[in-house]
Amino acid sequence: MDDIVNFRTNDYSQTKQYILKLCEKYPFLEKQIIGKSCMGRDIYALKLGRSYEYVLLAAAFHGSEHITSTLLLKFMENLCYALANCGSIAGFNAPRAMYGRAVIVVPLVNPDGCEVSIHSAAGAGYMAQKIARLCKNDYAHWNANIRGVDINHNFDAGWSELHALEQKNGILGPAPTRYGGVKPHSEPETVALVDLCHKYRIRHVAAFHSQGEVIYWNYGSKTPKNSEKMAQIMASSSGYALDVPTSLATGGGFKDWFIHTFNRPGFTIEVGKGENPLDPKILPELYKQVEEMIMLCAIM
Ligand SMILES: [Zn+2]
Repeated sequence: MDDIVNFRTNDYSQTKQYILKLCEKYPFLEKQIIGKSCMGRDIYALKLGRSYEYVLLAAAFHGSEHITSTLLLKFMENLCYALANCGSIAGFNAPRAMYGRAVIVVPLVNPDGCEVSIHSAAGAGYMAQKIARLCKNDYAHWNANIRGVDINHNFDAGWSELHALEQKNGILGPAPTRYGGVKPHSEPETVALVDLCHKYRIRHVAAFHSQGEVIYWNYGSKTPKNSEKMAQIMASSSGYALDVPTSLATGGGFKDWFIHTFNRPGFTIEVGKGENPLDPKILPELYKQVEEMIMLCAIM
């Protein structure tokens, strides 16, 4: 198999190339543009299989966590290859495992934020001056979108409580991380995912972040009964721990909104260990660690 997705730091244009090449090589893989970022970059979804319901996997909500989009794209490449060749992935016979199942992958939720983390001022375009002021020249740790809104604080689930907490912690406006915006769903990147979840029937979602080797599965009273069990299955595959978020990690997130809105399971999976952005050198090991977990998530 000639690899399309490479284990290195992949920026927006590289990611877009991968998506186009994957769809060209595997005609059963469908790409859709589900929205545009603040700076007009395309937000892609890859749809595999047809079913009355889908599992949604999404990555790179946070700029400094761009490694997660490479993980999901590599997973899709390996899954497509296995499907096309009647092969297996993570020990599962792919055509049999995917029979009647379907997944949607959004590999790069926050393309503008990732460009800032990867390319510094050059990645910020016409927003370079504002970003420089906000991040004090620490571009690599940038997590927000280009307007300084943290996408994972912008969803409509406990947003007001989170907003109050942000203010208490001195986060009063656009910032490199943890500012939830002026109102829920104020950002086009957030709206792209919200619209996608209303367009398709989604069985459950997994949002990929880095780092910590932790799986979050709980959000308030609407968390379905089977969520913890599903999280345990993923934890036993990857060796990751189950955790319950505290203070500024509570509410406003994609998985929180999904659980709250649809009453179905949602997970946040923090991959890898170390300081963000994680070194792309760990990708082969990291991928090995999480492939089976992603596959389980896709077929549960
Ligand atoms: Zn994150």
